[in-house]
Amino acid sequence: MYTKKELQNCKLCELFETRLNALVGEGDINADIMLIAQAPGELEDKENEMFIGPSGIMLDKLLKNSQISRDEIYMTNLIKCNLPQNRRPKQREIKACSTYLDMEIAEIDPQILVPLGYYATKYLFEKYSLNEFTKKEFPKFIGNIFLVENRKIYPLSHPASLLYHNEFIGKVYENFSNLRKL
Ligand code: SF4
Repeated sequence: MYTKKELQNCKLCELFETRLNALVGEGDINADIMLIAQAPGELEDKENEMFIGPSGIMLDKLLKNSQISRDEIYMTNLIKCNLPQNRRPKQREIKACSTYLDMEIAEIDPQILVPLGYYATKYLFEKYSLNEFTKKEFPKFIGNIFLVENRKIYPLSHPASLLYHNEFIGKVYENFSNLRKL
């Protein structure tokens, strides 16, 4: 597994030039559930902490409703450094940084991988040789279970997306609450 120091010194892609912090994963290293977000936001980059600010509040509400605490899951990002102005990640950045995510999956060995949003889901689908899909096609994969090797992939919407698309909130609550059943 990578160390905090290794990550803080990482210069494998150009995002090191603009980040304040490279965020390590947080939570239980024996967890059955691993949430994989896209990248730290501006506030998370500043505070060096995952899921704080509005998307963190939303995540906490979704987890509380599912009777899951942050302490019993593991949370990480596909990209460990902030994407300036919340721009889309570049393929070369995903390729460079996914090395760390691969280490986390191998070490923590969760039963359920929960990619939050398009890019994290796309990466896992490529890693495990599942369907290729476009961003437009992504919604049809949300809330479905995909069996790979000895685990399940359960793609969900990123909590931050609810800040802009409140109309899906009921469905997102339902999908998160299924995590407990899985
Ligand atoms: S995004 Fe990942 S690969 Fe790029 S500098 Fe940060 S830690 Fe390194």
